Amino acid sequence: MKVYLNGELVDEKDAKVSVFDHGYLYGDGVFEGIRVYNGLVFRLQQHLDRLYRSAHTIMLNVSMSKDEMKEAVIKTLKANSLKDAYIRLIISRGEGDLGLDPRKCKHPNIVIITDKIALYPKEIYEKGLEIITVPTRRNIPEGVNPQIKSLNYLNNIMAKMDALSCGYEEAIMLNNEGYVVECTGDNIFIYDEGKLYTPSVHLGILDGITRDVVMKLAKERGIEVSEEIISRHDVYNAGECFLTGTAAEIVPVVKVDGRNVGSGVPGEVTLQLIEDFKDLTDTDGVPVS
Ligand code: PMP
Repeated sequence: MKVYLNGELVDEKDAKVSVFDHGYLYGDGVFEGIRVYNGLVFRLQQHLDRLYRSAHTIMLNVSMSKDEMKEAVIKTLKANSLKDAYIRLIISRGEGDLGLDPRKCKHPNIVIITDKIALYPKEIYEKGLEIITVPTRRNIPEGVNPQIKSLNYLNNIMAKMDALSCGYEEAIMLNNEGYVVECTGDNIFIYDEGKLYTPSVHLGILDGITRDVVMKLAKERGIEVSEEIISRHDVYNAGECFLTGTAAEIVPVVKVDGRNVGSGVPGEVTLQLIEDFKDLTDTDGVPVS
């Protein structure tokens, strides 16, 4: 497998950066995860827009334009003859010294890794996932804003560990006020009585690209969509619940904190949106060749 490293395509065994890279020392950098379905890169522009917004906020100067980045992504996919893939695009602050000062890092490292991905087994999509709320709170937007898709995922990893230690794969994270915000690597939706709800971005979430796609698909089906404040009580008593993310796509949730959501099986609207999403990813995207 070839990896894109600062303008070159190198063998994966040679794809190395310095241990003095502040991405490694401090999680100082940004990244994206992007999917390719049957030779079509899904929502590439939106992912690049979010990447560059994240970089801008952390004052990381990307030496390439978005068009050049797009070309680099396509070039890497072609080099690996991948038609169905997961792309990990990483921009780290670059090599500096052991201090925090980002000014010491003169050259950000730009890496593009392409590989296969399967997040959950097939039966999870059919039977649904059981999740729990965990004690680790989501970072507050006034500290490290969750809208920045930064290389520092410790907040999410700690919540994931909370879940794993209780025997669950995914967790609902609350914000500092105790409202539901998102999961460790996915956004969350609930559906009840004809309306779809998802926590609004200002509460402290990553503004997921799959979230955005799903909101549009629901609206196209005539479903009202509302970005709201959502409590655990709302989730427990919703008719349906599901998670969205680039890697996970749309995952039905059937139980939260031991309570059945709806009738405890994937909901009709969730299953419809899964189908709509599949139709879209089959046909919409930037062609690799
Ligand atoms: N929230 C978090 C914390 C994430 O890491 C991700 C991406 N895995 C998402 C939500 C979903 O975002 P997207 O749909 O853009 O992948």
